[in-house]
Amino acid sequence: MGALLKCENVSLGYEGDVVTKNINFTVSSGDYLCIVGENGSGKSTLIKALLGLKPQLSGNIEFCGGMAKNEIGYLPQQTLVQRDFPASVREIVLSGCMNRCGLRPFYNKDEKKLAHDMMRRLDIEPLTKRCYRELSGGQQQRVLLARALCAARKMILLDEPVTGLDPKAANEMYELIDSLNKKDGITVIMVSHDMNAAVRYASHILHVGRKQLFFGTKDDYLTSKTGQAFLTVMGGDENE
Ligand code: ADP
Repeated sequence: MGALLKCENVSLGYEGDVVTKNINFTVSSGDYLCIVGENGSGKSTLIKALLGLKPQLSGNIEFCGGMAKNEIGYLPQQTLVQRDFPASVREIVLSGCMNRCGLRPFYNKDEKKLAHDMMRRLDIEPLTKRCYRELSGGQQQRVLLARALCAARKMILLDEPVTGLDPKAANEMYELIDSLNKKDGITVIMVSHDMNAAVRYASHILHVGRKQLFFGTKDDYLTSKTGQAFLTVMGGDENE
């Protein structure tokens, strides 16, 4: 499968302070890349850099194979404030279409159809008229994922997508993401501190610290010193 994204010698930081450096990886069409590492190691910063939102101190982030930056759907890490957002499910999903054409009060027929298709695909069609803040955490994450897919469907970036969800809702969310990857062919890049999920679903692992500690296939990660040490600390189990 062709490469969609290449990162070469990327260093990231804030106001000159280096968070992580020497990041090198390639994402090909159909991959499911999990970005793992200790808290504060720069995983979210890397995701934001891929979106062009945070300072990249040096190196090269290149989209290729017909991929452009605005073809990425993004599911940010949820905060309590975001969970209280006063809008309908339909309004939130439709707002994903702004990525293509900018902010405006009306949406055209194609955009409405797209939003409807995404709500159906993610099993939230019955919630269309409900207020977002009245939904469960799992339903809210599906709404935000549908919104991200309205923005773009070639590649999705997910930052800790199960934060705050109970184990059942978290598992459903992971299964949904896996199905988008396997059935719909969407390339996935997911930040996760949940090593069981990384081990279960990822095709590739990028482990970041002050510098890149590992990039390769999941199987190679599981037999690497870095992978084995981190799994011991984080409690992931390749047999689960
Ligand atoms: P992770 O996602 O791996 O937990 P982050 O990418 O959120 O880590 O943060 C990496 C480091 O960058 C942390 O030390 C954090 O405090 C710092 N950081 C994150 N966002 C900012 C910001 N907007 N300004 C300055 N420092 C930041």
